[in-house]
Amino acid sequence: MRIFNFSAGPGMLPEEVLAEAQKKLLDYEGSGMSVMEMSHRGKHYEAINAEAEALLREIMNIPDNYEVIFVQGGATTQFEAIPLNLAKYGAADYVVTGNFAERAFKEAQKFGDYKEVASSADCNHTYIPKLSPSNFRKNIDYVHICYNNTIFGTKFDKVPDTGGIPIVADMSSCILSEEFDVSKFGVIYAGAQKNAGPAGATIVIVHRDLLGNESKNCPTMLKWSTQVKEKSLYNTPPCFSTYVSMLVFRWIKKLGGVKAINAINKKKAKVLYDAIDKSKFYSNKVEKEYRSIMNVPFVTPNAELDDKFVKEAATVGLTTLKGHRLVGGMRASIYNAMPSAGVDALVDFMKKFEKENKK
Ligand SMILES: *Cc1c(COP(=O)(O)O)cnc(C)c1O
Repeated sequence: MRIFNFSAGPGMLPEEVLAEAQKKLLDYEGSGMSVMEMSHRGKHYEAINAEAEALLREIMNIPDNYEVIFVQGGATTQFEAIPLNLAKYGAADYVVTGNFAERAFKEAQKFGDYKEVASSADCNHTYIPKLSPSNFRKNIDYVHICYNNTIFGTKFDKVPDTGGIPIVADMSSCILSEEFDVSKFGVIYAGAQKNAGPAGATIVIVHRDLLGNESKNCPTMLKWSTQVKEKSLYNTPPCFSTYVSMLVFRWIKKLGGVKAINAINKKKAKVLYDAIDKSKFYSNKVEKEYRSIMNVPFVTPNAELDDKFVKEAATVGLTTLKGHRLVGGMRASIYNAMPSAGVDALVDFMKKFEKENKK
């Protein structure tokens, strides 16, 4: 039996996608083998690689002057790849809105003049700092932001104005959840395993004008320009992950694209936040305008009840609801592939649990 998995990552995959992968697992389109076994230079995988890129371009409306690559190493490897690829000045500004943003900043510091210019740490990352061009230094390579903060449940309500400095955005937990104007970003990157596919593939979307600014120490494997030139096939790519991501892109397209998914996501998030806001038992500490529609942290009146909630929810097929240790309580990650029925089941459980445990 499939359960509702509220994990922050890897997240659920659409059942339709899993069934399609299963159907072709042993014999992919008459090849007599699985995608996991075939050459990444053969015609079957080349078609998958090309379709993954074409579909992502289509559903995200990526302009032609951007390159798209599928690489390995997760978003975490990009924390280092970013300063090594965008090293004209060897300087950049970081907005620290949570744990991953902080880790990206820490990695960059090894390579040059990297500065934290804004932070929400003063309120345990329950908001997004207001930003304007005056926040940023002149003559820097980029401004780094984490668009959706997976652990703290916040997201940028709009793309900040950096006065023309390229924005590099970690979109690991929000890519494909809402429509983005890609032209407002220099680089968008995301580990696939939350909203785009299985772990193993990492998506990097980069404006062509930013390529060719690598530090001389940039490892070849981390060089975006190499992967662009080789169409993500410089070495053996994460074939199966890219394949399943491609199936997820097909699924999104069939549902009506990112706009349609976003409408569903907003509805799911509203159902859950309404349940929290209408009750005196549950609460969410994030400032309303910055609430994530992907990751929803919440607490009961005390830590013992939080533990009890997580345990009892798991017994009825609502799993991985324990909050991150930096926040405590619960966190429901409701990515694209979480069905509305999963959110409804969670809300029903919340009401029942409140009734049984309210003093
Ligand atoms: C999960 C996550 C990461 C880490 O991704 P990996 O692919 O595991 O390296 C980085 N940033 C954000 C926003 C995330 O949600």
